[in-house]
Amino acid sequence: MAKRDYYEVLGVDRTASADEIKKAYRKLARKYHPDVNKDDPAAEEKFKEIAEAYQVLGDPEARAKYDQFGHAAFDGAGAGPGGFGGFGGVDFDFSDIFDVFFGGGMGGMRGAGSRQGPRKGDDLRYDLEITLEEAAFGADKKIEILREETCPHCHGNQAEPGTPIKTCSTCGGSGQVTNVQRTAFGHFTSVRTCPACRGEGKTIETPCKKCRGAGRVQNRKKLTIKIPPGVDSGHRLRVAGEGDAGTRGGPPGDLYVFITVKPHKIFRREGTHIYVEVPISFVQAALGGVIKVPTLDGETKINIPEGTQTGTVFRLREKGIPDLRGFRRGDQHVQVKVVTPIKLSDEQRKLLRAFAEASGEDLPEHEDKSFFGKVRDAFRNSGEAR
Ligand SMILES: [Zn+2]
Ligand SMILES: [Zn+2]
Repeated sequence: MAKRDYYEVLGVDRTASADEIKKAYRKLARKYHPDVNKDDPAAEEKFKEIAEAYQVLGDPEARAKYDQFGHAAFDGAGAGPGGFGGFGGVDFDFSDIFDVFFGGGMGGMRGAGSRQGPRKGDDLRYDLEITLEEAAFGADKKIEILREETCPHCHGNQAEPGTPIKTCSTCGGSGQVTNVQRTAFGHFTSVRTCPACRGEGKTIETPCKKCRGAGRVQNRKKLTIKIPPGVDSGHRLRVAGEGDAGTRGGPPGDLYVFITVKPHKIFRREGTHIYVEVPISFVQAALGGVIKVPTLDGETKINIPEGTQTGTVFRLREKGIPDLRGFRRGDQHVQVKVVTPIKLSDEQRKLLRAFAEASGEDLPEHEDKSFFGKVRDAFRNSGEAR
């Protein structure tokens, strides 16, 4: 198999400086690292090729030989000027290389490189209970959250104001220390988080008295949350930038408000529809007429026809919950329930008997021959027999 030119592999000019080569290598190595490309076996091959190219081009002596002799300089053990061992039979131990490269074997990218950079603040969760009316029409809800905020005393600098912040002398402010290892194949450059400043790049003589050098303080924050009409239990509102403050100049996290709609005394909700049960008297049911019905918008009146049966459902169009996506408002379903009177006055009883008579209804006789009917029949028969 023909080997690709090392410069081509790293994507640099033959005249590239050592720095440019190093940069190109690091960029490519990150991209093709086996840990980040677990599903792509081609990436590992590519990564091997990149590492090999850098072992040569990253070492001035080896690079000079390569420039002069090409791949032949390293062909076969001990072959070529300087007796460089070939790569043919040598297996790389990637984890070793990357442990040092990324500073700690934390699984790839979470090493020294990211530890000292800006970090986004954590997202926060707040559970909010609202009424059905608030869910239907929207509301401004005042809440109070506990969160990490940038320290107002040191503005996140971590040092007591007026005291010096020095660039870390160990790492020169980069937050990383570079270590060059000599091996049979050339030099390895390893980068680790600076142990002196733990990646901060600076040394603080007097930590801020308010935050004790953390750069952030816990604070209670009052916020007004806009509840959009139509929300329902289980919905989550994202309030951008209201989470914990970031560190090292990173952006703040977000606040997520988790909505729970409290059960309502009389209304039941299903999506955008509202269900309610309204009791009516049997007289209303029989005669029909206007009945009062509660809605989310207040009381309204509906007309029920003569002879309405219990359980009949009437629909009030667009008296339900607005649709969150702006479609039409849901409906209210009104189910009437005919209520049988429990206590009758003598007069009411008389009137009802008269009503039954007028209907041609002989109460005992017209009943079904149910258990009680049979009992009554037995009674009557025995009376006649006497
Ligand atoms: Zn502070
Ligand atoms: Zn340092």
